[in-house]
Amino acid sequence: MSPLLPVADALAAVLARAEPLPAEDVPIDRAAGRILAAPVASLVDLPPFQSSSMDGYAVISTATPGTLPIVGKVAAGRPESRVLNAGEAIEISTGGVVPEGADAVIPVEHVVVGSGEIVIRDAVVQGDNIRARGGDVRAGDRILAAGEVLTASRLAATAACGIASVSAHRAPRVTIVVTGTELRVPGETLAAGQIYESNGIMLAAALVGAGAVVERLAAAEDTEEALERALTRALEADVVVTSGGISVGPHDLVRRVEARLGVEEVFWGVAMRPGKPLSFGTRGRTLVFGLPGNPVSALVGGLLFVRPALLALQGHPSPAPAFRPGTLARDVWPRPERDDFVRARIAWTDSGPVLDPIRGQESHMIVQTTTADAIVHVPAGTDVLPAGARVGYLPL
Ligand code: AMP
Ligand code: MG
Repeated sequence: MSPLLPVADALAAVLARAEPLPAEDVPIDRAAGRILAAPVASLVDLPPFQSSSMDGYAVISTATPGTLPIVGKVAAGRPESRVLNAGEAIEISTGGVVPEGADAVIPVEHVVVGSGEIVIRDAVVQGDNIRARGGDVRAGDRILAAGEVLTASRLAATAACGIASVSAHRAPRVTIVVTGTELRVPGETLAAGQIYESNGIMLAAALVGAGAVVERLAAAEDTEEALERALTRALEADVVVTSGGISVGPHDLVRRVEARLGVEEVFWGVAMRPGKPLSFGTRGRTLVFGLPGNPVSALVGGLLFVRPALLALQGHPSPAPAFRPGTLARDVWPRPERDDFVRARIAWTDSGPVLDPIRGQESHMIVQTTTADAIVHVPAGTDVLPAGARVGYLPL
């Protein structure tokens, strides 16, 4: 293996080749999680009219306190055309249009309701319980910027502003190719030397969560023919993610077959643990990731490199993994030659998250990994990181 590339350099090499995909119009009911390619402006004032924030009575404040006849009724969606005169009240529901002339709403709980009239004991303050027209946003104002992710609240804002569709970068199509003659599907019976395939479902879950449209192919055997068939098909996607077959063994054929299919390798081998024998290349605009077969290595490689690439393809303004600050629960000895990504459990304390590395850090131990809720970045170094040292972590 050629000299190992530092993690940051490898990520930079990936992101430099992950140009945002073209934008398309997306109806908002299919836009959850998508990233905006263009800003969004409101089509309406919001609220579109002066509305009541309470169930109560619209009044003219200078005519209170007093006993006021109820001269009309406003419900949400059912405005009242008559103008309110001093000394009158109009019954109104939350979200109803405040009638012309009124300058306050008194909540129903604060009045004594008689027959056809209300008694108000204290003076009502002008403007009380009235939502101003345009108090949330004005027609034409920008509500969202390009690069923002359409979260639940942003989608609600888009709908509230009358917008039916938005411009979003196309979701990347990812094809996952797991490789290994030993792999069987759960539900089948294992013969000697076989194991259950687990990387495909793991990577699919992780990458769907990053906005990809994922296709999974059946596991490919470790033969050039089987790999060529699978990779030929996979290379039609925007992103190819393989697992296994990229190390230095005689059955590690993925890179060789990819080269034959026209994939230009950008790097192979990253100075990290787990996940060192990771490869990355391109064919045209297709990004091609080779993750190691060991499940924990595949997971870490997927989170550190594939996920950021998917975000970049969707136009995310900061696609790199967002490490959060935490402190170590115990002493950790870094390696001089490579970054470690340690699986850890988070304890939430008054001083923030404290990260305790789990037992079972070997890269085949996917079941031990279930007890972890974070991946802690331990940068290469020669000095001990003592308990309490500040580190960055990615939530799992
Ligand atoms: P490889 O990178 O192909 O040398 O595989 C490394 C280890 O990971 C071997 O023990 C494989 O059996 C195992 N492995 C490879 N692919 C998968 C997979 N899709 N699911 C679970 N284990 C795998
Ligand atoms: Mg293999």
